[in-house]
Amino acid sequence: MASCCSLSFSTVSSKPNKPYSSPISSSLQLPITSQLPFSKKNSLYSNHTLLQTQCRKTQSPDCPSFLVVGSAKKQEPLRVMISGAPASGKGTQCELIIKKYDLVHIAAGDLLRAEIAAGTENGRRAKEYMDKGQLVPNEIVVTIVKERLMRPDSQEKGWLLDGYPRSLSQAVALKEFQPDLFILLEVPEEILVERVVGRRLDPVTGRIYHLKYSPPETDEIAARLTQRFDDTEEKVKLRLHTHHQNVESVLSMYKDTIFQVDGSVSKEEVFAQIDGALAQFLEAKE
Ligand code: AMP
Repeated sequence: MASCCSLSFSTVSSKPNKPYSSPISSSLQLPITSQLPFSKKNSLYSNHTLLQTQCRKTQSPDCPSFLVVGSAKKQEPLRVMISGAPASGKGTQCELIIKKYDLVHIAAGDLLRAEIAAGTENGRRAKEYMDKGQLVPNEIVVTIVKERLMRPDSQEKGWLLDGYPRSLSQAVALKEFQPDLFILLEVPEEILVERVVGRRLDPVTGRIYHLKYSPPETDEIAARLTQRFDDTEEKVKLRLHTHHQNVESVLSMYKDTIFQVDGSVSKEEVFAQIDGALAQFLEAKE
């Protein structure tokens, strides 16, 4: 077998191992993404293709037929994490990403609010922390998020995990769920506070409005808008404090896949950057 082919996971690839170049300006990038499109796992398919080709050329009887089966393996679905301070635009970008890439959107905050709405014991305990702008304890969050990630739709379609992990211990607790891309939205604090206090939800359509920047279209919609209980100036400052305390340690877990984006520009511009990075990742994966 060794005479016809040798299996190595190093840098064998059907495409040149070109460095990843992001569509965003260099000032917005972390110095990490050079290996992004070619993880060891991703090069596996290319290795099999190469092995097949070599075997056909040599026509050696030693060449194992199982390699041909391996090369037909379905490509793994996309896994993305998105992180950013409250009101950094995660929700908006998530909507755009799932629409284009058809991923399952898993938002830790939404899962917790669903527990509260369902009146569960976990929900009752979670609300005590959410009211104070603090992180809900891991024994509640980790299980809920893990269970959602394990469901068949997430496994088959791929997932977009939003608002998790928010601490190093959460990242470690679910370290088997590594993202292909870790998106970090960056927005200055004064913009974040203004966005949060003006944010309103239409409970009928689920649409998010902003009283100043994206006001409701009709008086009827305006009359039914609700505000999240933790979207007050006092609480958002606590939430921002919690975010800043934890973000660096979380990033240390995903150094090789971080994609840092300026979230203060228009949602279309932010999405164009994210879309460019995802498209480039998928292209390289092929
Ligand atoms: P969000 O909807 O992402 O703004 O989250 C709202 C609140 O839910 C946060 O302020 C936390 O209290 C709680 N929460 C959301 N995600 C997590 C998480 N990963 N770990 C702990 N608490 C969380």
